[in-house]
Amino acid sequence: MGKRKFKAESKRLLDLMINSIYSQREVFLRELISNASDAIDKIYYKALTDENLTFNQSDYYIKIEPDKDARTLTITDTGIGMTQDELEKNLGTIAKSGSLNFKNENEVKDGHDIIGQFGVGFYAAFMVADVVTVTSKALGSDEAFKWESKGSDGYTIEPVEKESTGTVITLKLKENTEDENYDEYLEESRLKGIVKKYSDFIRYPIKMDVTKSKKEDDGDEYVEYKEEETINSMVPIWKKNKNELSDEDYENFYREKRYGFDKPLKHIHLSVDGTIRYNAMLFIPESRPFDYYTQEYEKGLELYSNGVLIMEKCADLIPDHFSFVKGLVDSEDLSLNISREMLQHDRQLKLIAKNINKKIKSQLLSLQKDDREQYEKFYNAFGRQIKFGVYNEFGANKEVLKDLLLFYSSKEKKLVTLAEYVSRMPEDQKYIYYATGESIDRIDKLPQTELVADKGYEILYFTEEIDEFAIRMLATYEEKEFKSVSSNDLGLEDEEEKTEVDEKEHQELFDYMKEQLNGKIKQVRVSKRLKTHPVCLTADGEISIEMEKVINAMPDNQHISADKVLEINPTHEVFGILKDAFDNDKEKLNLYTNILYNQALLIEGLPVEDPVEFSNNMCKVMVTA
Ligand code: ADP
Repeated sequence: MGKRKFKAESKRLLDLMINSIYSQREVFLRELISNASDAIDKIYYKALTDENLTFNQSDYYIKIEPDKDARTLTITDTGIGMTQDELEKNLGTIAKSGSLNFKNENEVKDGHDIIGQFGVGFYAAFMVADVVTVTSKALGSDEAFKWESKGSDGYTIEPVEKESTGTVITLKLKENTEDENYDEYLEESRLKGIVKKYSDFIRYPIKMDVTKSKKEDDGDEYVEYKEEETINSMVPIWKKNKNELSDEDYENFYREKRYGFDKPLKHIHLSVDGTIRYNAMLFIPESRPFDYYTQEYEKGLELYSNGVLIMEKCADLIPDHFSFVKGLVDSEDLSLNISREMLQHDRQLKLIAKNINKKIKSQLLSLQKDDREQYEKFYNAFGRQIKFGVYNEFGANKEVLKDLLLFYSSKEKKLVTLAEYVSRMPEDQKYIYYATGESIDRIDKLPQTELVADKGYEILYFTEEIDEFAIRMLATYEEKEFKSVSSNDLGLEDEEEKTEVDEKEHQELFDYMKEQLNGKIKQVRVSKRLKTHPVCLTADGEISIEMEKVINAMPDNQHISADKVLEINPTHEVFGILKDAFDNDKEKLNLYTNILYNQALLIEGLPVEDPVEFSNNMCKVMVTA
C-alpha cells in the first residue's frame, strides 16, 4: 500500500509541533493514556447496552512498556480499537474543523502551548518520537491494521496480524540532542512520575513491569527481576463517597498533592450533579504559605476533565479574595483539550467558579459560627486578604465578604464580627465607632477614644494598614455608618452644644497657636472628645491620619497629608496655663504650643519633626518650673 499524505493543514500543524520548543513534552503520555482510557470507556458503554458483551473489569487495562535497547516506548490498551477506516480518518487528519484558527505562526511558537491551543491529542507523540506505529484491531472485526508515520511527510496503512481487540502504539524515541534528552521516557521512575502527575485517577489500571531486586535465598547477592505493577491509584478521592472518607484521608491527600506542609483547616468536598456536573475537592490551609503576600504566589485550582489533569493552576476558578484555597475541580463536561484562552470564556467554567465561590464563603461562615477558635486561626492567616477583597475593584465584592470580617472589640477584648457589634449597639448609638493605631495596646491608650468609650459604646480597633481603607469602601453595615473616634463630628448630641460656647471665647488664643505651628495644622480647637488628656490630633476631611501614614509609606510616595487639627481639652489644667500665657507671656505660650503639638504627634504614633528642639524645649520647661 502506498504512502498517503496528511491533509495540508495537518501537515502545517505537525511541522509546527515537531519543531517548536514545547516546554512540557511529557504530556504526550497523558494524551495517549487518555485516548486509551476513552477507548476502554467505549467498550464499557457498549457492554452496558449490548447483551452479548460482558465487561469484565480485569480484562481492561493500559500497559506501558519501555524498551531501552530498541529505544521504544509502547502503550497498549484493550479498548475498542480502530478499523482501517477509522485509522485513516482519526489519525490522518489532525486539524479538525476550526482548530487552526491561530493568528500567526510566531504566536504559536512563542506561546508554546500547542496542545492547549489545538487539541492535537494523539499527535503529541511526535514531540518525542520520530516514528509512531499504531496497530489496532476494532471490536467485532477479524482484521487488524498497522498505521505508521515518520511525521509530516505522510503515513502508511497495511494489514497486520493481531490477536486481541485494542490498540498498540509504539513510539520510536527521537535521538537525544544537546538540549533534549529523550531517554528519560525510557526510565521507569520518570514514567511512573508522569503517570502519577497527570493520570493517577484514570479509572483503569495503568500497568508497567517494574524492576525490583531481592536477595537470593542462599546468599547475599541481590538479583533483579521484573514485576507487573499498577502505577495509578485509579479511584480519585474526590469521586469517592464522603462517608467513606476520614479527616485523615483528606489530610493525606492534601499532603500528597503538596498543597501545603500544614494541616488543612477545613476541606470542602463537592459533588454537583446539576446543569453542569463536577466534583471539587477544596482545602482551606491552616497557615499562610511563606510567599502568600508576594508577587510570586500564584492562585489557582487544578482542573481535571474526567480524571485527567488538563491544567495545574486554573486561576479563573478562584477569585483573588479566596486565593488561599487549594484543591481541584474535575468535570466530565469539560473538554480535555480546551485551551487556556478558551477556558477564560467558558460558560461552564464560570458557573463552576461561581458555585465554588459561594460554597467557600458559606463554609467559612459556618466555621465562624461553629468553631470560632479555628476561624480565628484562619483569619489570622488570611484575614488581610479578605480585607483587600473588600477594598479591591472599588468594592465590587464587599457584600460577599463583609460578614467574614473580624475586628478587635474594646468591650469584648477579642475579635468580633460586624453583625455582633451591631446587635449590641444601644438604641441611641448612631454609628459604628472605630479607632486606628499600631497595636491594641496603643489604641487602648489613645486619648481620642475617651469620650466614645465613656458613653459606654464599643469601639473596633483597626491595627492593620488596610483596615480603614476597607471600611471606608464598605461605608455602612446594616445601614449603620462607620465613624472614626478621631472624626470631628462624633454624633454624640449632648456633647456638641456644651463646647459651642468655648470655641468662640478662645478663638484668639487658638488662632495664635495655629500661627505658631506654621502651616503644620489646619486648626486648633476645643476638643469634644477629651476627658483626662490635654491634647490630641485629629483630621478633618476624607484622609485620616492613619491613611496619610499608609499612603506615604507606599513606594510611589504621593505625599498626601491629612488636614490635621490640634484639639485641646478645655477642662484640663493645662488649658488655664495656656490662657494665662496668652495674656502675659507669649514666649512661654510659643514653647508650650510646640511641646503640646509634639506630644500629640507622639500619641498618634507620628514622628516628632525635630527631636532635638523638642527635647531642648522640655528642658526649658524644667528649668523654669
Ligand atoms: P481526540 O482524542 O481529542 O479526539 P486524538 O487526535 O487524540 O484526538 O485522537 C483522534 C481519534 O483517534 C480519537 O477521537 C479516537 O477516536 C481515535 N483514537 C486515538 N487513540 C485511540 C486508541 N488508543 N484506541 C481507539 N481509538 C483511538
